Amino acid sequence: MKKEKASGREKLNFERAEREKLLTPEVRDVESVVEISLRPSKIAEFIGQENLKENLSIALAAARKRKEPLEHLLLSGPPGLGKTTLAHIVAHEMGAKIVATSGPAIERAGDLIGILTNLEEGDILFIDEIHRLSKVVEEFVYPAMEDYKIDFVVDKGPTAKTIKFSLKRFTLIGATTRQGLLSSPLRDRFGVNFHLDFYEPEDLMKIIERSAKLLSIPVEKEAALELARCSRGTPRVANRLLRRVRDYAEVKLNGRIDSAAVGEALRGHGIDSLGLDELDRKVLKIIIDTYEGGPVGVESLAATLNEEIDTLVDVVEPFLLKRGYLKRTARGRQVTPLAREHLNVSAASKDRDLFHSKK
Ligand code: ADP
Repeated sequence: MKKEKASGREKLNFERAEREKLLTPEVRDVESVVEISLRPSKIAEFIGQENLKENLSIALAAARKRKEPLEHLLLSGPPGLGKTTLAHIVAHEMGAKIVATSGPAIERAGDLIGILTNLEEGDILFIDEIHRLSKVVEEFVYPAMEDYKIDFVVDKGPTAKTIKFSLKRFTLIGATTRQGLLSSPLRDRFGVNFHLDFYEPEDLMKIIERSAKLLSIPVEKEAALELARCSRGTPRVANRLLRRVRDYAEVKLNGRIDSAAVGEALRGHGIDSLGLDELDRKVLKIIIDTYEGGPVGVESLAATLNEEIDTLVDVVEPFLLKRGYLKRTARGRQVTPLAREHLNVSAASKDRDLFHSKK
């Protein structure tokens, strides 16, 4: 019996190194390091998303006044719009510690229990890509969020026993690019739910000017606006383009970033005047050329493009839909006249192609 108990405990006794590996924020390359350095740390420094910011500020002030942790918070929206940044801002504003992990990193229920039992009162647990949590792990998240308790059953049959854990009151911040994939029991357990939308060029311009200042890059106003227009409504893209244009200006020009430098550098990277990149245009062109403008299912599209479905759904589609180049219908994705116009493909050429293929 004693031995059984020990083996149960053993299962819960996760090696420290493994837990640390799981919790360390992934810094994959130089870009991630720069990205972290550009992250605003206070809500007042977070540019745009005015509605969200106002509601979040009220929720933060109320929680601080009541001396309680913030309610669990769900942040959804396409990649690069500031979900991780906001999670860190919440921690900063609440004076709390943040532990960051992601849905796919938590492979077993034990991983999650290891993380949860180490949280202190008021700590923030940030789970990126929360829609990718496994069903088994998700079952443990419900009672942890609701009652700050978890029951962990070890062993099976007559030797099975339940170990109960009481947790400190923490705040879970979940981020997702696909709110639709979240199960409704999980979604319902978040007290606050914010959606981040693509940024307008004026806000992206401010983000670019702020980053340029932090990185000591001299950028003319006109050039910043041009860059902002080509950034797919996304701060991460804006910051990345700024760095690429800086490289170009340093190597080919005198270092100063004006609109001519922006134009040349972006053309070199295959980004057009509307901010569409090669993959965006490839998607639209394949729908026009191969699927006669659509509708086409995302699976067929992904297979033809040799791309991951997730990349199309998370990264490419939202922007094309938002800007009206693509339509989502019950039968699949369809290009719009605006996309044809941009790519210089008229509906007439579609009819001509049809005519040729019928012959
Ligand atoms: P997500 O988690 O949604 O993928 P991040 O929070 O990692 O996006 O944001 C990507 C980068 O964009 C961050 O490094 C940050 O510098 C910048 N960023 C995002 N939103 C804003 C904003 N509103 N104001 C200033 N910078 C921002």
